Amino acid sequence: MKESLFNYRFEYENQKYIFNTNNNGLIQINNDIFTEEEREYLRVNRFWVDDNEDEIALLEREINHNIQKRQKELELTIALTNYCNFSCVYCYQNKNEKLMTTEVANMIIEKIDRILNDNIFEGINIHYFGGEPLLNIPVLIYLDENIKKITDKIGIVYKAFLTTNGSMLSKELLQKVKFSSIQLTFDGLEKTHDRLRVSDHFHFKEEIELIENIMNFSQAKVLLRTNICKENKDEIIALHKYIFEKFGNERIEINPNRTIKYHQDDSFEMLSVQEYAEVAYQIKLLWSEQKGKFELPVPRSTPCKFPYGNAYAISPEGYCTFCSGSMDQEKKYFFDVDIENKKMFSVRKECKKCNILPLCLGGCIIQYNLRAGACTYEKYELKNILISYIKHIS
Ligand code: SF4
Ligand code: SF4
Repeated sequence: MKESLFNYRFEYENQKYIFNTNNNGLIQINNDIFTEEEREYLRVNRFWVDDNEDEIALLEREINHNIQKRQKELELTIALTNYCNFSCVYCYQNKNEKLMTTEVANMIIEKIDRILNDNIFEGINIHYFGGEPLLNIPVLIYLDENIKKITDKIGIVYKAFLTTNGSMLSKELLQKVKFSSIQLTFDGLEKTHDRLRVSDHFHFKEEIELIENIMNFSQAKVLLRTNICKENKDEIIALHKYIFEKFGNERIEINPNRTIKYHQDDSFEMLSVQEYAEVAYQIKLLWSEQKGKFELPVPRSTPCKFPYGNAYAISPEGYCTFCSGSMDQEKKYFFDVDIENKKMFSVRKECKKCNILPLCLGGCIIQYNLRAGACTYEKYELKNILISYIKHIS
């Protein structure tokens, strides 16, 4: 028998612990001499494995099995335009003024109709995306109404999600389209936010007022995205506290991210993964405390949903793109995509010795290709996360 590659050992208040990132189990141990009964427990729960077991190969097999399994929901991220009325300092969009046309929307609707009529899925999630998607409201409404007709006829669930800079989100639209969640971005307190999110008419104050409108005129949750870089890292916690105190935690969800430099001359400084991890941990701790909810890190069942799951990103021209974070076109219309043809997963060489591999599965491929660091924040903060959990349950 040998110790699992995915064991993470740590000490807290003179006690020794092992957390296994693949089975999500946390145990306290006294020393490394175990009784027969304890050895059996460790074997059954896979803290210890057979000497000849190849845990990486087993994990790859399990993940590929999950990828092949039919997933419950079809996920489409539809870019209604690449254009935007903001000029955020970190924007990666290759902006042009093209808007998705009704003809392209019709091709998407027809394909959705075909896929959903095959009864493969129990639901469909549409993420309206851009650029700024609300520069093309007529096509958004057209898609929404037609997808709703299809899903009502078949009797499956349709959920609409919106990522927007908020500047064109009216009360009327909030009442017309039943968004499940709306992602808004705040990149610091007022002054810093307004320097990083460049707009000539819609700033921090207006965006805060928009959250009030969302709360009053819709049932949507607000997904609070924060792009974290050197310029705002010291005020991100104050920002989160401000939002929490103003709006509570019932309808706010958080989405912290490390701001990535796509162009050398972007006017902000990127954090290292480790620097970002410290801030991300503090944000998650704050919201766990507010919600009184602490959980152990859960292993991922699949890697990033875009190349591997039933998730497709579609450009304004109707092409499949690599993912919502990259408009690089795969030169294939979404209409022509074979959804049964899935990309298979294999572990990268440098991840093969990583004991938190099951929590990360190699991270974001785009960040990896940009050499911007793909590791998840748990790589650096796992001990703190586990200690907060122990404190909470004891
Ligand atoms: S709001 Fe989004 S699309 Fe528009 S400039 Fe900012 S990052 Fe780019
Ligand atoms: S990307 Fe980093 S954290 Fe993720 S599995 Fe690879 S080495 Fe581990």
